[in-house]
Amino acid sequence: MISNDNKLSVTILGSGTCVPSLKRSSCSVLMRIDDTALLFDSGAGTMRRLLEAGVDIYDVAFLFYSHFHPDHTGELASFLFSNKYPDGSRRKRPLTLVAGKGFLKFYENLKFVYGNWIELGPGRLNIIELNTDGHDTRRFDDFKVESIPVEHNPESIAYRITGPGGKSVVYSGDTDFSENLVVLSKDADLLICESALPDGLKVSGHLTPSLAGEIARRANVRKLVLTHFYPECDRADIGKECRKSYAGPLILAEDLMKIEI
Ligand SMILES: [Zn+2]
Ligand SMILES: [Zn+2]
Repeated sequence: MISNDNKLSVTILGSGTCVPSLKRSSCSVLMRIDDTALLFDSGAGTMRRLLEAGVDIYDVAFLFYSHFHPDHTGELASFLFSNKYPDGSRRKRPLTLVAGKGFLKFYENLKFVYGNWIELGPGRLNIIELNTDGHDTRRFDDFKVESIPVEHNPESIAYRITGPGGKSVVYSGDTDFSENLVVLSKDADLLICESALPDGLKVSGHLTPSLAGEIARRANVRKLVLTHFYPECDRADIGKECRKSYAGPLILAEDLMKIEI
C-alpha cells in the first residue's frame, strides 16, 4: 500500500523525450491523491522509475494519456503484461485507462499484436475515451478530471486534476502555444508544462521556455514545472529564457523529483 501524509503530490518519473538518455527517461508523471496513484503517460522506462519512486505497478489505479506518440505510450503494453504476473491477482483494484478519442482503437490495435498477453481479465480494466472536440469533466473516487484539446495531435488533450482539498494540478502533455491550456490552467496550484526546445530552436507542435512561461503568467498559476526536455535544453539556460515571460515559482524537472502541492 502507498502511504503518504500529504493529500496531493507529484513525482516526475520521466522528464525526457524519445531521445535515449540515462538522465531523462521518456515522459511520465506520477500523482498521488491520498492512497490513490495516478500516472500520466508511460514512455519507456516508466516502470523502472516507478520502482525507484517506491510505487508498485499494481497500486496504479489510473493511467491518463495525453496523446499516442511512442515517447508517451511506449510502455503501455509492457505495463499491462507485467500486471498479469504471476496470475493477475496482485492487482486489488481495476486499472482505468483514460485518453482522447481514438484510444479504444489504439488499444484494440495493441491487442491485435499482443492478444491476451495484455488482457487483464474480466472487471480488471476500464477504458474511458474523453471528448477531443472541447472541454470534458469526469469525477472519479475523490478527485475531478477536466480535459481540453491542445495543439499537437488530433487526440491530444491536457488534464487538470482537482483533489479533495481543492488543490489542482495541470499536465499539458505535448502542445504548441494553446489558448485552451491557458483556460484550463487558470489559477492552478501547479502547471506541469512541456518545454521541448530552447527559445531559438522552436518547432511546430511544441513549446519553448518563454512560451510556457507566457501560458503560466496568463493563467496565473501558483507554480510552474517545465519538462519534456530534448538534449538541446540541457545545453541552454532554460530558466533564464522562461524568466522573460514568467516571474513566479519555477522548477526545471528532473527524473524522480517530488513536488508537494
Ligand atoms: Zn513527446
Ligand atoms: Zn508528442
